[in-house]
Amino acid sequence: MAATPMPKRLPEPIINENAKIVLQRRYLRKDTEGTPFENYRELFWRVASSIAAEEKKYADSVYTVSKLAREFYDLMTSYRFLPNSPTLMNAGTDLGQLAACFVLPVEDSIEGIFDSVKHAAMIHKSGGGTGFSFSRLRPKDSVVGSTGGVASGPLSFLRIFNCATEQIKQGGTRRGANMGILRVDHPDIMEFIKAKERDGELNNFNLSVGLTEAFMRAVEKGEDYELVDPKTGLVSGTLNAGEVFGILVQKAWESGDPGMVFLDRVNRDNPTPAQGDMESTNPCGEQPLLPYEACNLGSINLGLVYAAGQNGHDSEIDWDELKRIVHLAVRFLDNVIDASNYPLPQITETVERNRKIGLGVMGWADLLFQLGIPYNSQKAVDLAERVMKFIRDESRAASKQLAKERGPFPAYADSVFGKADLGPYRNATTTTIAPTGTLSIIGGCSSGVEPLFALSFVRNVMDGDRLVETNPHFETALKNANAHSASLMEEVAKKGSIASMEFLPEDVRRVFVTAMDIEPMWHLKMQAAFQKYTDNAVSKTVNLPNEATQEHIREIYWKAYEYGCKGVTVYRDGCKSSQVLCTGDSE
Ligand code: UDP
Repeated sequence: MAATPMPKRLPEPIINENAKIVLQRRYLRKDTEGTPFENYRELFWRVASSIAAEEKKYADSVYTVSKLAREFYDLMTSYRFLPNSPTLMNAGTDLGQLAACFVLPVEDSIEGIFDSVKHAAMIHKSGGGTGFSFSRLRPKDSVVGSTGGVASGPLSFLRIFNCATEQIKQGGTRRGANMGILRVDHPDIMEFIKAKERDGELNNFNLSVGLTEAFMRAVEKGEDYELVDPKTGLVSGTLNAGEVFGILVQKAWESGDPGMVFLDRVNRDNPTPAQGDMESTNPCGEQPLLPYEACNLGSINLGLVYAAGQNGHDSEIDWDELKRIVHLAVRFLDNVIDASNYPLPQITETVERNRKIGLGVMGWADLLFQLGIPYNSQKAVDLAERVMKFIRDESRAASKQLAKERGPFPAYADSVFGKADLGPYRNATTTTIAPTGTLSIIGGCSSGVEPLFALSFVRNVMDGDRLVETNPHFETALKNANAHSASLMEEVAKKGSIASMEFLPEDVRRVFVTAMDIEPMWHLKMQAAFQKYTDNAVSKTVNLPNEATQEHIREIYWKAYEYGCKGVTVYRDGCKSSQVLCTGDSE
């Protein structure tokens, strides 16, 4: 749809140094020689104007296209809200694929498997990530009817997907990311659990074991459980649930993989059960989807809704501003659905039927720093619930407003909302908490709902580029406490954390905590607090120190289940040879 021409007086966005590197490398449009032919202002206007242009279709809109384009531009260039990377890269371009998250089915046939490999390649090329369940594939060594030979099983096919991904760099720059899921009752589950025990194996995949309530009960009781051949539906053997859980814990302790996803819980929250079960999530786990479904995400920077206390009042959150951002962001994300070209007709159909969007947050640690609330405190957990409840309620209100202007999502009548007469809503889901790996660099904020990895650190990005970052709120706090000095900053950059620096004021040490200072259970409580009010799921890593035991991981996995999380990912410091983020000491 034709976009509004760029107004002459459009303000120039302020781009931080790290964002410049990322934007130049991956986001600015380039000619065949690889030279960018758009500047930062043109990039954000391209996105704002092409997403706003969709508004033309809706006669009852409360916005004009040009007014909305300008609001979207201001929203993004103030970094209050950013859409997921594919939208920034591809909006207003011929490719026009704008969603980050996809799930594809893998059927139990050679044709089905290789269709899926091809579809994944098409999605990776456009900047999206793919999730698959391999649970429908017949187990290794079972008979192949058409040939009389034996099947090679899910793991052998997983390697083909991994290898194909290796060859296709996304959009010419970033490599595709995948999620592979296998149900715990698949006969090949032990091989799957051990699949990444060698470093570098299946490096383009995150793996998660799909756990069921029945399995968790069997673990509790120390019972055996049945393995079911998906092809025949027959029981092919039994395993002891406790032993399987123990090996799962051991492998996660060794390498961080596999994680877990609670499939029954994911499907309990399925808004459209009439369309079947959700069997997989996207690569980072925050977005469960139906087969052939996609979802576009966007994140609000919470660090920017901080309101400093006036006239002796405590600092707070600017709730009116947050509400304004949520409503505008929901309109943005709903327009993205219309503006996006999906790589397959089946995906277009599913997306347009359910119109899922995933609005989430980033800059959570920045907000806590400004409010002076330690991440590892009940106060922070309570505030997380309050903030996310507000965002979910307002995003649903915004979705209702859109339904008035544009009609509900086509599958509404058959959805849980339609059946309970709760709507009408424009979107089957509105909230997801993404990792915001790149968005947080562009926005210059802490990522997702994670604590800072370090107060000052060296970030290794693609091709060996190194970016140095110090948290600005930390610098301000040190200056206010008259504790700022060049030598101290160097020391912090080396250590990452200030936990052991007893000469610093106690309140500064309490508030400025990093991922490794935080007890794993607080990581989990924070994840659960955000999950409570998130329609889809929450991307979160529970960080553990190197000396954590398998027993610690077992406890976290178990508590994740008890706290109502949809999945869990743990990471024990130093357990993999290459880490994405490094403090000075680990260089
Ligand atoms: N993603 C991907 N490849 C990448 C990074 C992300 O496919 O290299 C997809 C994946 O589905 C992930 C989602 O994008 O779960 C969101 O990731 P993130 O929030 O880090 O992306 P950003 O928008 O910040 O680039």
